[in-house]
Amino acid sequence: LAEDTLAESMPRYARVNPLKQPEAATLTALEETGFQLQQLHAAGPKSTTTLESRQHYFKDTHLDNLLGFHPRTDFHTHWLYRRGHLILQDKASCFPAAILAPPPGSVCIDACAAPGNKTSHLAALMHNKGTVFAFDISRRRMGVMRRQLKLAGVTCVKTMLKSFLDTDPTHPKFRDVKYILCDPSCSGSGIVSRLSDLVDVSDAGEPQTQEEKQQERLKALAEFQVQVVNHALSFPNVERVTYSTCSVHQEENEDVVAAVLAANPSFELAEALPSWHRRGHSDTLPSAAMCVRTDPAQDFTNGFFVALFVRKPGAPRPQS
Ligand code: SAM
Repeated sequence: LAEDTLAESMPRYARVNPLKQPEAATLTALEETGFQLQQLHAAGPKSTTTLESRQHYFKDTHLDNLLGFHPRTDFHTHWLYRRGHLILQDKASCFPAAILAPPPGSVCIDACAAPGNKTSHLAALMHNKGTVFAFDISRRRMGVMRRQLKLAGVTCVKTMLKSFLDTDPTHPKFRDVKYILCDPSCSGSGIVSRLSDLVDVSDAGEPQTQEEKQQERLKALAEFQVQVVNHALSFPNVERVTYSTCSVHQEENEDVVAAVLAANPSFELAEALPSWHRRGHSDTLPSAAMCVRTDPAQDFTNGFFVALFVRKPGAPRPQS
């Protein structure tokens, strides 16, 4: 599919923020402003060509609290968006926090957090109970994240303007960290240009310069991505770690996972989002079927990859 045809059939996904009000109240408010819920019976990827009109929307069949709208829907002036009840976030970008699934009361780290879409999703899953340490090195993106978290009513996040790689995993404040979400900078090669001007910039990281050669760039990104996940796995009590990119390149996805597994014999992959049909590529990673991939042309989301690392039962732990 050509990029604009693709963008025309990709729903504009919006995550209902239950920290502001229950989903039912948000759906009622949507109806009051002219939107109509359309029941879609078949599970599986949804193209907006199945919507009866631009006013119709659907509930996602894989994730809770996720709604799909016509791609030209403009939420700029809609009060639900302006007051943080709806968070514009592509479906695939909602996978990592849903897969990490920290229960209320957990202590988590979001290693590369800004502008914070996945951080606020973690807080929502935790009902604002527990702690999320949210790291980022970009002052500008951190500023955006702080505003977004405030708007979303998030109270359980401690923002940390510093490199995740410079944190000491043995520091007492990280002793109870069991969940870490790693969403480091990537090539952004999976992102499909949006039709409207409500561009969702959360997943691309800092823009890369055009002159960089593709292979060198991928190699440098992959080295950084491996470092981030290795560092996450060195936290003494961590149990579950997700690694995600909005890249379609194997170098940044399966190859990174293979390198991390080779360096961390105490960890293995667990099956991420078993209800999702598209899985990782097994050329360089025999257990790639444990990982999630999305394909823009067939799944009507951005291209995305998620792996879930878990500590092997009985595996030795570093001293905390
Ligand atoms: N998870 C974010 C979301 O869902 O909104 C998107 C994160 S974006 C893909 C990657 C982020 O990593 C960028 O904001 C970038 O500034 C940050 N970053 C890059 N190097 C980092 C480091 N060493 N420590 C922490 N954050 C870093």
